[in-house]
Amino acid sequence: MNIVIFGPPGAGKGTQSQNIVKKFNLHQVSTGDLLRNEIKNKSEIGKEIEEIISKGDFATDNIVNNLIKDIIFDPKKKDKLIFDGYPRSLNQAKNLDLLLESSNQKIDFIFFLNVNKQTIIKRIEKRKVLEKRSDDDLNTILKRYDTYMETTKPVLDFYSARSYFNEIDGSDEIKVISSKIEQIITV
Ligand code: AMP
Repeated sequence: MNIVIFGPPGAGKGTQSQNIVKKFNLHQVSTGDLLRNEIKNKSEIGKEIEEIISKGDFATDNIVNNLIKDIIFDPKKKDKLIFDGYPRSLNQAKNLDLLLESSNQKIDFIFFLNVNKQTIIKRIEKRKVLEKRSDDDLNTILKRYDTYMETTKPVLDFYSARSYFNEIDGSDEIKVISSKIEQIITV
């Protein structure tokens, strides 16, 4: 089973992914983590990524598509993937379809965690204190939300007609969201 979970920054994708990973024994693929990892390792591409992320922009599709490829073709992770924060553009979504098809896999469930801007701002402010993430000052948060909505709208349109697409109200409590997701997966 492969899952895509997406929604604006602060919608709770990370939390819900971790829960699904535990319950269904999947591997979480977070492009945010993969990108931060490159920055931490101070790779050549890491320096480029750091500049992009600190401005609240998106990494290029090329960078992201390359990072994701190895994971999809890892036989140990086959049909056990949950994509968190990816795809974020139509190009990435189409690329994901291609990569899955050529590795003999498919998406089984798509969850769109939808929340309004006010809820997200409150949540990210909290996370800023807890995790001390450097890209999380308020202006960057707002820029990230707007960039997300702009760039990801085509992904939403691309996915929403699929029978396995599910929109979930992300402003609910964590537990309520988790049980809604689990119910859909286990039916
Ligand atoms: P996240 O941890 O998912 O909130 O991601 C943190 C930042 O990494 C985002 O604000 C983007 O700048 C960048 N990023 C993460 N995933 C992607 C992606 N799939 N495509 C482009 N940029 C991404």
